[in-house]
Amino acid sequence: MNHDPNYNWFDDASKASLPEVVEALGLKQGRQSFGPCPSCGAETREKGRTRHPIGMTTDRQGWHCFPCDLSGNVINLVCLCLLGSSKAQKEQWNQVRRWFAAQQWCRGLPGENTQATPRVLKRKRPPKTTPKDYSKALSHFKGEVQEFWLHTLEPLSRPSKASEQALKWLNQRGFTDQYITNIADHDLARVLPHQVSCPKWARFAGQPWNKQSYHLVFPAFNSHGEMASLRARKISESSGPKSIAPDGAGAFPTARNFVQANDIGQLLLETGKKPEWWTGNLPIKIVVVEGEPDFLSWAGRVSDADEHPLAVFGIWSGAWTDEIAARIPEGSRIIIRTDHDKAGDRYAEKVRATLSKRCIVLRTKNRT
Ligand SMILES: [Zn+2]
Repeated sequence: MNHDPNYNWFDDASKASLPEVVEALGLKQGRQSFGPCPSCGAETREKGRTRHPIGMTTDRQGWHCFPCDLSGNVINLVCLCLLGSSKAQKEQWNQVRRWFAAQQWCRGLPGENTQATPRVLKRKRPPKTTPKDYSKALSHFKGEVQEFWLHTLEPLSRPSKASEQALKWLNQRGFTDQYITNIADHDLARVLPHQVSCPKWARFAGQPWNKQSYHLVFPAFNSHGEMASLRARKISESSGPKSIAPDGAGAFPTARNFVQANDIGQLLLETGKKPEWWTGNLPIKIVVVEGEPDFLSWAGRVSDADEHPLAVFGIWSGAWTDEIAARIPEGSRIIIRTDHDKAGDRYAEKVRATLSKRCIVLRTKNRT
């Protein structure tokens, strides 16, 4: 079987899933990222933060190291780890093939004793999603919101009655499985289970969110990039507002002064400047949207391997503030996609008024 002259081990090896290859290489792995970089040795993407230096593409076949700007596929990564270069010399390919064969991702070399069955077919296995690691950050993400997010709300990928309903709701809005995996990987939304008790602020008109089918929950960030509030979305057709903020019970902050933000959006809020890995003079591109489905549809397609990822902010009444605008680097390019109605016009005007002196601000028609 190993002597089949038409057999091309590259075809099999290049189909191995990147997360599994990363695991087999013994590198540390996050949701869609890993490290340290076998080329430049970087351990984190940004100074003082824990994110791994290398991002994976959403199809989990490609990768890109932010500190050294190297990118490639699974074979390049294995070459880099085994040979110290992402491209093998002619005489080194057998060594690379042996590694893939030993992992059962391709057939071994003719005459060499390796297990016969390549395990490439297994790659359809749903990728493991490790929720974003907020536990390390808890020391600075203090408070009830983070506790609730971490310990009561569940990742979209965890099977439950509520997550089933949430996935159905997303599917009906055109979100494909790959999209949803990306959303779960980036921890852009979580699920509020049916049988848990909600804190006194996670209520609407006195009733807990999960008793009124507000099962999809989104983090909301303050002008320092801290998760400081939440947004809950109704996933049934029953009456009541489609999306709500905590009800302000006691001193709890409500919806004002918080925005939804994807990874790069959070980073901008945290630091107020372009990340150190941002190459060239390209401006930061930002899209500001209104409503959870729009937020997910924009943020859910930003890949962790993007060299110049799009920052996505989701806003609602009172969300955008001067303090938040002040975190947007000068010269950024902002596209506002709020609804074309009175409220949407008002939000757009607020964003424009706070940024148009320092940035290019455009408003475009919503796709819907
Ligand atoms: Zn690197």
